[in-house]
Amino acid sequence: MKELSPLSSFLNQVPLGVVIFTRQGKIMCWNQEMELITSWEKREVIKKRVEEILGFDFSWEEIRKSLEFEEKVFIRNWPIKDRWGEELLLNLRFFLWRKQENKINIMCLAEDVTQKARWGENIRQMEKLSSISRFIASVAHEINNPLTVISGYTQMLLQKVKESNECEICEITRRGLEKIEKEAEYCGRLIQELVDFSKPMVLSKENVDLNFLVRESLSVLDVLMNDKIRLELNFSNDIPFVRVDKSRMRQVFLNLAKNALEAMKEKGGTLQVYTRLAPLEKFSFPENGTGNGRFIEVEFIDEGKGIPEKILPRVFEPFFTTKEKGTGLGLSISYSIVRAHKGWMEVTSREGEGTRIKVFLPQEGEE
Ligand code: ADP
Ligand code: MG
Repeated sequence: MKELSPLSSFLNQVPLGVVIFTRQGKIMCWNQEMELITSWEKREVIKKRVEEILGFDFSWEEIRKSLEFEEKVFIRNWPIKDRWGEELLLNLRFFLWRKQENKINIMCLAEDVTQKARWGENIRQMEKLSSISRFIASVAHEINNPLTVISGYTQMLLQKVKESNECEICEITRRGLEKIEKEAEYCGRLIQELVDFSKPMVLSKENVDLNFLVRESLSVLDVLMNDKIRLELNFSNDIPFVRVDKSRMRQVFLNLAKNALEAMKEKGGTLQVYTRLAPLEKFSFPENGTGNGRFIEVEFIDEGKGIPEKILPRVFEPFFTTKEKGTGLGLSISYSIVRAHKGWMEVTSREGEGTRIKVFLPQEGEE
């Protein structure tokens, strides 16, 4: 053991978990990073087998045999339990380590990929959002006050002009005021979305029948419908209740449906909405240990103009819009709401044919 000590002090500097095993699978070395990752201290694990400590369920024999044929064995996203029973995902790389001619040990490098695997690309979106949201909140507030004054006076003047609707000047004034009123209304809507966008994401969750919530959210769309557009609801009856913030999720479903209807405004088409239990490959290890790792999926399929491949990666960006009167906030707000529920969204689209957007929400246990 003594001769290991300069080596161990070196291994403690390595930013990866390092474990050295005997050929029989007993732990000989456990570096500081491993202590950090698993919360198990070196002195507690030495001479034990890794299965006893981390709840590994693969056979040591298999790894040893594979190493006789291959230089290294790589295991991706392997689930383990840390000292407190929390599930973690590790990438593991095993290889043979020849200390002396006749003495062969097995070395393992471990990288904690729990966060990466769960958040993946999404994390970058979130960082972008939170950094600008504080700035936005203050600007929105500053604009809102004068805007209220503008709207108030415009309405008052409009009323006056309408009452004395005789002269030509009155007519021109009326039209001008109506334009101001319309634009002020648009600014107001924009401000409201900005404020929504920058609100801290405090959720008040309750158990919700998702089918009911989706149906209810879309019921206000009647005004946007025309005879070229149809709405088709395809709900699965065997999805369990979900724990969500009702008003926030209503906002998400409404945003997605509005985008779909706007995309179909000219050529018409059908908006199909599905709810279903997500397929098992969407399974992930639940954060905080709640839930069973399964997800419920709500899918919006439209036959609108679609999203060109070039701009597809940008649609969740705050303020990205291709519409003359768009705010570019609908999808980014929806995205952050869904993320706050520990779910995520996926978009696929074909220009000229239509768009599919899926919302995944975790099937959480009752609290
Ligand atoms: P806005 O609707 O205000 O433009 P969003 O964040 O809701 O902002 O959407 C951003 C952009 O993504 C839209 O301007 C549009 O180009 C594109 N988009 C979103 N949903 C759809 C859809 N269903 N069909 C076609 N394009 C879409
Ligand atoms: Mg929108």
